[in-house]
Amino acid sequence: MSECIFCKILNKEIPSEIVFENDEVLAFNDVNPQAPTHILIIPKKHISSFSDFSEEDMGSILPKVFLAVKYITEKLDLKKEGYRIVNNCGKNGGQTVGHIHFHLLAGRQLQWPPG
Ligand code: AMP
Repeated sequence: MSECIFCKILNKEIPSEIVFENDEVLAFNDVNPQAPTHILIIPKKHISSFSDFSEEDMGSILPKVFLAVKYITEKLDLKKEGYRIVNNCGKNGGQTVGHIHFHLLAGRQLQWPPG
């Protein structure tokens, strides 16, 4: 998946500010932050969107992604004030990058509903 920008990030072909990394997951700062803390968490396996998860990958990869969220929120001390985890899926979901990613937003009062 050499054309995927997030695969290029995880292969260190283009730079990013890495917040967390292990064998399965990478987390890095969003280049266009929508909150004081805006981190993208991705599985290293290229999966295009939430809709493209196989049941097998969902069972093995999603827990690793959310464990990374837990680790990051503890490390950055976000638990007291709270945060939001977002996945945009497909056109109507507002997804612009075709490698599944979860946004972790924190550091300000977030509004609801989203636009
Ligand atoms: P989405 O619209 O949900 O697909 O989110 C894609 C996110 O990727 C946006 O918030 C972009 O700001 C972010 N993004 C795009 N390119 C980069 C990059 N090179 N480094 C970090 N974040 C990026």
